[in-house]
Amino acid sequence: ITKKRIAIFGSTGSIGKQALEVIAANENLFEAEILTAHSNASLLVEQARQFNPNIVVIGDESQYAKVKADLSGTDVKVFAGEDALEEVAAMDNYDMMLAAIVGFAGLKPTLKAIENGKPIALANKETLVVAGDIVMQKAVQYRVPIIPVDSEHSAIFQCLVGETRNKIEKVILTASGGPFLGKKPNYLVNVKRDHALQHPNWSMGAKISVDSATLMNKGLEMIEARWLFNLKPDQLQVVIHPQSIIHSLVQFEDGSLKAQMGLPDMKLPIQYALGFPQRLPNNFPRYDFRKPNALTFEEPDLKTFRNLGLAIAALFKGGNLPCVMNAANEMGVYAFLRNRLGFLDMTDLIERTMEKVPFIEKPTLEDYFNSDAEAREFAASLLSL
Ligand code: NDP
Ligand code: MG
Repeated sequence: ITKKRIAIFGSTGSIGKQALEVIAANENLFEAEILTAHSNASLLVEQARQFNPNIVVIGDESQYAKVKADLSGTDVKVFAGEDALEEVAAMDNYDMMLAAIVGFAGLKPTLKAIENGKPIALANKETLVVAGDIVMQKAVQYRVPIIPVDSEHSAIFQCLVGETRNKIEKVILTASGGPFLGKKPNYLVNVKRDHALQHPNWSMGAKISVDSATLMNKGLEMIEARWLFNLKPDQLQVVIHPQSIIHSLVQFEDGSLKAQMGLPDMKLPIQYALGFPQRLPNNFPRYDFRKPNALTFEEPDLKTFRNLGLAIAALFKGGNLPCVMNAANEMGVYAFLRNRLGFLDMTDLIERTMEKVPFIEKPTLEDYFNSDAEAREFAASLLSL
């Protein structure tokens, strides 16, 4: 059999590294063909030496010479710069893109891969939050399957195998609640970066860890699900499930509920997406029902975790509002990570930016790029006050 050649965009991140573990464990099925990093040149070089890809891309151009020198004597081709991501995504020599760049930066290379007819394993949820209508329309136009990697969406996708989409009544996204579940604003006002990065069930990149702590992550995921599964906003529901064993549920027209369950481990949805339509074996730890344990569920506290409310408003209003919200959120999260903005102040930054940037009902791709830039500019002006 010929191996599936995987292009990992964002190979030095949390998802990227776990994807390489999956590839290493299934080297008869997969090979890493393209690896990209933004600034972590030393890890990119280490990965290239281990996996011998055809191409690596280092986003930060100032590190090109170092990567090139470190890989001399190998036949790995080295590209550098932001435009190189799109250039490489448009190449022919790979079979699937794992979109694992974080944030808005993942959108353009993913669009290029779709226009290039390459199936997408999608971790980068921001791509669908920003421009989900256009991305999904292009996926249909170019007959490109988009297989979710986000655990909730992988769960929904797995629940839908053998079902027809028009029989879905409701989709229920589970949320762990993050490190601050049960906390109130008087506590949250003082939390700092290191505390927010301590997620109880998952070890993830910094940005999504903060999003999980604010519940913005679940809001982004509602919008992601809306586009992936072609749902109406009111078909989506969020429930807090602190144990993260049920990864999400689908309720059908007959009231039947299907859930996908397992121990929280991102390697599972990554492996499922890379292997789809095959389900591959592995030896990851199994969930044991015989151990004393309880699966519990509760309503999210929207009064405390206001980011989720903002995201739900953006989900219902649509247009460029999710894009604007996403941009302000990225600005807020990175300011919080640099200790330049308080935990609760992130919400105000997002809310004010959503009020400021003019609403566009039916944006073009260019409108989305402009709205993103406008939102960042306005958020930056608030941050420098
Ligand atoms: P990380 O921050 O760990 O990794 C991000 C990756 O993207 C790195 O390879 C990084 O390179 C690269 N990158 C960062 N900024 C840019 C940029 N401007 N241009 C090009 N590349 C860039 O993120 P995660 O792996 O945690 O998350 C990746 C995506 O997957 C996110 O959209 C997240 O929401 C989603 N996701 C993640 C989950 C998880 O468990 N981690 C779960 C579900 C979804 P470098 O290392 O050089 O900076
Ligand atoms: Mg998720």
